[in-house]
Parts: sequence; structure tokens; C-alpha cells
Amino acid sequence: MATLYIVATPIGNMEDITLRALRVLKEADLILAEDTRMTKKLLARHDIHTPTLSYHARSGEAKMEKIIGLLEEGKNLALVTDAGTPAISDPGAHLVSAVREHCADVAIVAIPGPSALTAALSVAGVETSDFLFLGFLPHKKGRETLFKEIGQSERTVVFYESPHRIMKTLEALRRIAPDRSVVLARELTKIYEEALCGTAEELYARLARNPQKQKGEFVVVVAT
Ligand code: SAM
Repeated sequence: MATLYIVATPIGNMEDITLRALRVLKEADLILAEDTRMTKKLLARHDIHTPTLSYHARSGEAKMEKIIGLLEEGKNLALVTDAGTPAISDPGAHLVSAVREHCADVAIVAIPGPSALTAALSVAGVETSDFLFLGFLPHKKGRETLFKEIGQSERTVVFYESPHRIMKTLEALRRIAPDRSVVLARELTKIYEEALCGTAEELYARLARNPQKQKGEFVVVVAT
């Protein structure tokens, strides 16, 4: 029986990869990668020579059929995305769903490891027994409604945000949830890693004073 391995890879620090992930990447017949150039750097560092095939958000039906064909031939495939755990707010979920639908005989196996979501929650120091994860917020339609829901939510709320929108997001949060604590988990596992805590108002002022802190990758955690 063929297997599709869903392999978590580092979110910054290249040492954050499990022994099992390295073995699976070495032994797979083919690695499906969101960005093959990026994945090849990781593979080169660990002396892994498994061939790669690109699979990303714009991969069409023909690519999906090819992947399904390979699994039906009995090939073992490993799926990686640019960073973290595939299928968490990235193109991985679509592939897993298609393989589940079309290949009843293929085993789908998780190779767990880093994710920006769990890394951010682990350093946030907020209530995590019950939280709401929103992935990326929509850019336009529905964004304001979602902010209102965040403001009214009695749970910790977590979402991913791009550096281009982080100030706008803080602006919305200071309007809608002025009293709630917010943690900005920025550049986790990388050189300039930090978790900035405060109200949205305080964080807005801090980032406005230091535009360097508006750069990089962010997870936003809104405490209860
Ligand atoms: N599947 C990935 C995971 O498990 O972490 C998430 C993929 S999503 C396309 C990428 C987003 O995750 C980034 O825009 C950012 O919000 C967040 N992210 C990824 N790496 C990060 C890091 N090192 N520090 C903070 N946030 C990060």
C-alpha cells in the first residue's frame, strides 16, 4: 500500500526537524514541495537526494491527477510546504482531501513537528485549553465582521498576519478590543524572534516607533 506522508519542516531554525521527518524524506520515492528551491536547501543540509515535484496553491488538476497516479502505482510520497505543518493554512489541505477522496487504499500519515500556531501559543502565556484559530483573515470582504467576532469572543483567538497588514490589524484591534491583551509572536525560531505583549494600543505605538518590528512573519494571539 502506498503512503502519503505529511511532513512538518522548520518555521525558521533549520535544526527544528525531527529524526523521523529526515528518515521519511530520505526514504520517500518523491517529495512534493510548495517551493522546490526552498525545500532543496533543507534537503542539501541533511544530505538527502530524494527527487522533488512542485505542488502549490496554483497547481491544477493535471498535477493532482499525476500525484494520484503515482500513489496508485504504489509510490510513497512525502508532502512538505514552505514552513511548518502542511495543511495548516497552506495548500496541503487540498491535496490531503483529494487523496482521501480518490485513493481509498493510500495511507495518509502525519509526521508531526513545528507549526507557527503551536509555537506562538507555547510562548504567549495565555489560556490555551480552548482557543479559536482563524488562519489568515480575509483582506476585504468579511474582515470587519470577523474583527467584531474577535472582540466579542470569550476564547483566546489566534490568526496569521502578514507584515503588510500588521499595523492595520492592530488599529482594528485597538478599536474593537481595547482592553484585551495581545501577543505578537514575531519571527519565531529566527534571529530576531520575539513575543511582544500589551494592549493593541500599546503594541501599535511600539511598532510605529520602531518600524523594524513591523517586518517579518507574525502570529497574532488575542487573549481572553
Ligand atoms: N503551515 C504553516 C505552519 O504550520 O506554521 C503555516 C503556513 S502559513 C502559509 C504562513 C504563516 O505562518 C505566515 O504568514 C506567518 O503568519 C506564520 N508563520 C510562519 N513562520 C513563522 C515564524 N517563524 N514566526 C511567526 N509566524 C510564522
